[in-house]
Amino acid sequence: MRATCDGLVIREAAYGENDRLITVLTAEQGKMLFTAKGARSLRSKTMSVCRLFTYANFEYYEKNGRRWLSGGSVNDSFFGLTENMEGFALASYIVQLAAEITGEDVPCPEVMRMTLNTLYAIEKRLKPYGQLKSAYEIFAANISGFSPELCGCSECGCEQSDRGWWLDVMNGHLVCAACFSESGRSASQLPTTDSLMTANIFLPLDGSALAAWRYVSSAPLKRIFAFGVSDGDSMRALERSAETYITNHLERSFDTLDFYHTVKE
Ligand SMILES: [Zn+2]
Repeated sequence: MRATCDGLVIREAAYGENDRLITVLTAEQGKMLFTAKGARSLRSKTMSVCRLFTYANFEYYEKNGRRWLSGGSVNDSFFGLTENMEGFALASYIVQLAAEITGEDVPCPEVMRMTLNTLYAIEKRLKPYGQLKSAYEIFAANISGFSPELCGCSECGCEQSDRGWWLDVMNGHLVCAACFSESGRSASQLPTTDSLMTANIFLPLDGSALAAWRYVSSAPLKRIFAFGVSDGDSMRALERSAETYITNHLERSFDTLDFYHTVKE
């Protein structure tokens, strides 16, 4: 049976002598795997739709329990991503995260839209890369069901803290600076695990970085990048906390993230 779908290539790999295996993110069916026969040949009809970051309409058929790509037409190749190493590295990390938070045959319209919007924003440099990266990481945590509780201090219940906050990463909540220091805690002296054997990871968040976390957690997708932070320190706190949060909750590292850090300007 022949069929078509719109999707974004989020992974591609050589397969056998001349074929390619691609993973395509689609809104309706989540991740879909395709084999593209002969796609590494220059004469191939499918080569142009098999490149990483290509958003295309894919034509395929199913046979022997696999999906075989028979053709397709490119909607957007995000070609600009290949012109800048840092942007390319970040986009590679974003699609690897997208692959991690989606499943096969599980519809994911929001992840699809957020991923396309993020690639576009990276390509056009609509916002600083660190801001786009943090927004995607916070989105990924929220959509995966482990968003932190950001209303106020989990210990005293206060909603204002002039001295800032600490994000308890593994427990997914905030501790105000007063409660944090009251019990003689300091980030470097904490035991590595708490009484429930949960890893103790506390990261500082100033008011501006926390406001950014809250904004991204509640903003509609089309406005999700429309925020600012007050200065470089706040941006660094936002970047560090969002990255630490998502990688610890997904319990894995990403080679593309390591690559991004090595090429970051
Ligand atoms: Zn408190």
